[in-house]
Amino acid sequence: MELNAANKPLPEPTDASQAYWDAAGHGRLRLQRCAGCGTFRHYPQLVCAACHSLAVAWVDAAGTGTVHSWTIAYHPFHPAFRDDLPYVLATIDLPEGVRLMGRFPLEQANQLRLGLPVRIAMVRNDAGVPLPIFSLA
Ligand SMILES: [Zn+2]
Repeated sequence: MELNAANKPLPEPTDASQAYWDAAGHGRLRLQRCAGCGTFRHYPQLVCAACHSLAVAWVDAAGTGTVHSWTIAYHPFHPAFRDDLPYVLATIDLPEGVRLMGRFPLEQANQLRLGLPVRIAMVRNDAGVPLPIFSLA
């Protein structure tokens, strides 16, 4: 079976993540914030890990962060991503207190450092899925 971008696995929004994907589709990064205690959480979850409240609000993220870690992928974790290789996958610390994973431009990988400030944009990939893309701040 030949796999390409059209065969990439697609998000399957749940009750907890539907608002995230709706905002992402409009180019916005929104995060869950517990309406009980104010703790941010990401990935979207039904229950607050801090106070176990089910009450949630959705808040626009600042759209900035700092590099927590990164790797350069040379091997596809899924065959449909083979044409993307190599790519940089970075984990970013957000000022809201959560971490976000996404791609960073390969051409700028030699500038990556722990704590490096980045900006975040939600950009559709070749399969039409809006994903976080980081760039130098
Ligand atoms: Zn809470």
